[in-house]
Amino acid sequence: MEIKVLPLPADKMKPKCTDESKLGFGKIFTDRMLMAEWKVGQGWVDARIQPYAPFVLDPACLVFHYAQEIFEGLKAYKWADGSIALFRPEMNARRFNHSGDRLCMPAVPEELFLQGIEQLVKLEKGWIPSMEGTSLYIRPAMIAVEPVLGVKTSDHYYFYVILSPVGAYYAAGFKPVKILVEDLYVRAVSGGTGEAKTGGNYASSLKAGLEAKQKGFDQVLWLDGVHRRYVEEVGAMNMLFAYEDRVVTAPLAGSILNGVTRDSVIKLAAALGVKVEERQIDINELMADIRSGKLKEAFGSGTAAVVTPVGTMSYKGEALTIGDGGVGKLTQKLYDTLTGIQHGRIPDTFGWIRKIA
Ligand SMILES: *Cc1c(COP(=O)(O)O)cnc(C)c1O
Repeated sequence: MEIKVLPLPADKMKPKCTDESKLGFGKIFTDRMLMAEWKVGQGWVDARIQPYAPFVLDPACLVFHYAQEIFEGLKAYKWADGSIALFRPEMNARRFNHSGDRLCMPAVPEELFLQGIEQLVKLEKGWIPSMEGTSLYIRPAMIAVEPVLGVKTSDHYYFYVILSPVGAYYAAGFKPVKILVEDLYVRAVSGGTGEAKTGGNYASSLKAGLEAKQKGFDQVLWLDGVHRRYVEEVGAMNMLFAYEDRVVTAPLAGSILNGVTRDSVIKLAAALGVKVEERQIDINELMADIRSGKLKEAFGSGTAAVVTPVGTMSYKGEALTIGDGGVGKLTQKLYDTLTGIQHGRIPDTFGWIRKIA
């Protein structure tokens, strides 16, 4: 599919952030965006790279009422030699269509997804920050834009990609987070939409997140929706737990997201000779293992922060410190290796890097 590049008028160009230490996350957006539309009877039409601009949408659009929406998140990195790399973008393309299938949305051809992102990032390469730990965050999304109040699948969708230069997540150093194990609210159940990257999952998680913040925690760890007993995942991260001789993580059983970072961390750990088990994790056993000191490290995995050390876990009023509450050796090693590969400091022996310039 041909992707048209529309002109960017000078008055649509924004000033770039001059202090890369102040970028933060997802607050500023580049000059251009990718757009394509799907119309019933026509399929994908009018793929274009256009100036970044607001949508004018009818208030009746399906997305506003019934949340037919999906998204993705990945990053482009500028290496010290000036080249630009994506990290496993084909996994995001596949997952996007997996999410879309669950929400009855049309599949985006992988070449439109991948080439669209590649072309857009190349055009916007002047926006990719270069300071240590920074990157260009890429946000593909699809929304249902048919204006009708009857509940149905839409006959018109927008697929679009916007870009945001983002700062180093751990600008002030690698800091372990405090996690509250949620025993009242649930995020997903098998058969639901937990495995899809869809806005509704986030909307329904806000209340638990807010209440956890009020109690002084950074994030919520979800338990399974049926027994409220098995560990699932955290906000926008999968969770991994390190023992002396192995790493344990929840299986992909329909209610958690199939994280690209999770998969990468599992493969990296295995390459380091660490045994990885994907299995149900009983929260009571996990807490007992923290108490006894058998559990050495816990960390989250996700594109935004890559690897996030967990210092404290609290369940039913009992707050426990994991290890010495600091950053574990394996956590640090996985973080250093993965970010090293992404930023081109460590050779990629896995075939994960897609150089685009
Ligand atoms: C995006 C996301 C993750 C992390 O996935 P990555 O591909 O590693 O970024 C984990 N859990 C949820 C709920 C997510 O939305």
